[in-house]
Amino acid sequence: MEIRIQKAIMNLQRNNMAGYFVETKEELLQLMASLIKNGERVGWGDSVTLEETGVFEFIRSGPFIVNDKHQPDLTREEKRKIYLENFDVDTFLTGTNAITLDGKLFNIDGNGSRVAPMLYGPRQVIVVAGINKLTDTVENAIQRARQIAAPLDAARLNKDTPCTKLGKCIDCRHPQRICNDFVLIAGQFVKNRIKVILVNQEYGF
Ligand code: SF4
Repeated sequence: MEIRIQKAIMNLQRNNMAGYFVETKEELLQLMASLIKNGERVGWGDSVTLEETGVFEFIRSGPFIVNDKHQPDLTREEKRKIYLENFDVDTFLTGTNAITLDGKLFNIDGNGSRVAPMLYGPRQVIVVAGINKLTDTVENAIQRARQIAAPLDAARLNKDTPCTKLGKCIDCRHPQRICNDFVLIAGQFVKNRIKVILVNQEYGF
C-alpha cells in the first residue's frame, strides 16, 4: 500500500474513524456487504463515487430497507421527509470531497442534507472515496473542494453559476450557488461510527 494511503488510514484511526483500503470496486462491494447487516435501513447522499462504483445498485438490489432519495418524481416534501429520515438510518452512505493525510474529512454542501447525517444521527456512516480524494493538508482539501469538486458538481447539476463557464470558483453570490456549508470532520466521539473506504482508483471529483 502506498505510504500516503497508509498514513491517511492510520490518522483516521487516531481520530476514532475506521479506515479501509481496497483495490477494486468488486472488493469494495464485498467489504460493504460485511459492514451492512441484512434488514438494515440504509440512506445516502448525492455521490458520483457511489454511482460509479455501483454502490447504489448494490444496496437497491440487496436485503436492505432503502431510503432512496433518487426515486423518480419525488416531490419537494417527499425529499425533505427522506432527508429527515436519514438521521435515523442504521447506515448512511456518502462520498467525500477530500481526505487529508492527517485523517480528516472535508466537504462542501448546498443544503446540508449530505453533511448533516455525517455529523450526527446514523449508527454508522460509510464514506467511499477514490485515491484522487487524498490531500496533504486541510488547506489543500479546501482548495481541492472549492476549485475542483464544486465547479464540476455545479456543472453536473446544470447550475447557471459562474464556475460552470469559468471552470473555477469565484466565490459567487449567485442564487443557484451550491457552496453553502464547509464542513471539516476532525474526529468522532463514537469510535468507528465513520468508516472510510479508500478504493485504489479515481472516482468522482
Ligand atoms: S461558490 Fe459559486 S462559483 Fe464558487 S464553486 Fe460554488 S457555485 Fe461555483
